[in-house]
Amino acid sequence: MAVLLVTNDDGVHASGLAALARALDELGDVYVLAPEREHSACGHALTLHRPLRVERLAERRFAVNGTPSDCVNLGVLGFLPERPALVVAGVNHGSNLGDDVTYSGTVSAAMEGTLLGVPSLAISLVDGGDFDGAAAIARLLAMRALVTALPPKTLLNVNVPTGVPRGITLTRLGHRVYTGKVVEQTDPRGRAHYWIGGGEPEWGELAGTDMGAIHAGDVSVTPLHLDLTNHRALDQLADLASSLNAQYRPAARTRARRG
Ligand code: MN
Repeated sequence: MAVLLVTNDDGVHASGLAALARALDELGDVYVLAPEREHSACGHALTLHRPLRVERLAERRFAVNGTPSDCVNLGVLGFLPERPALVVAGVNHGSNLGDDVTYSGTVSAAMEGTLLGVPSLAISLVDGGDFDGAAAIARLLAMRALVTALPPKTLLNVNVPTGVPRGITLTRLGHRVYTGKVVEQTDPRGRAHYWIGGGEPEWGELAGTDMGAIHAGDVSVTPLHLDLTNHRALDQLADLASSLNAQYRPAARTRARRG
């Protein structure tokens, strides 16, 4: 049986994680390795400046005092009895759509798996949806990813709407239009503090996007690529390097003095 690694960013006790682990159980030996507490919006953070501890909660179920990406790194690079055939992160409590994926611990866990060469999926459920239904969708996609390889350096970001989905749609990421402002307040000691992340999100063009699919009641599947290079910009900026080189005067290198 293949080893499957399941993690999340809502913490090891989250009900979405339990539903996912149950749904994947018949596909392989499911190991749950998840943060001991909630880490939503932690992005792709890794813990490099203190040791990680793993607490065994039950058979093949472990809590880690770190981030979702820590859990994947640990699992793929040695903690599990063998290299996992698949990393599945979720089911996240709340959607991970459009530009927000860069903040998501759930999506970052799948990014970490992908960077380590393991096929990876992230699955998120719109608030108020049914975890078992979303986990069943995750099982369908997991079966597919185990049989047919995903494109190189590519993960699947899956979002499930509330209610019974109409179907499954391939999408691109939507874009947020930022309208929110920083909220400045004064504390009882007269010092200013700030709240960020406020304001209702507004979305740009919805057609073909993950947000559009969710609005229509479909499961959204977005292939995300981890080569962040803007290949078109390499051509557009071609004259940049030559003009910079024309201005650049290398400083004479001073020999490092020893002792
Ligand atoms: Mn979360």
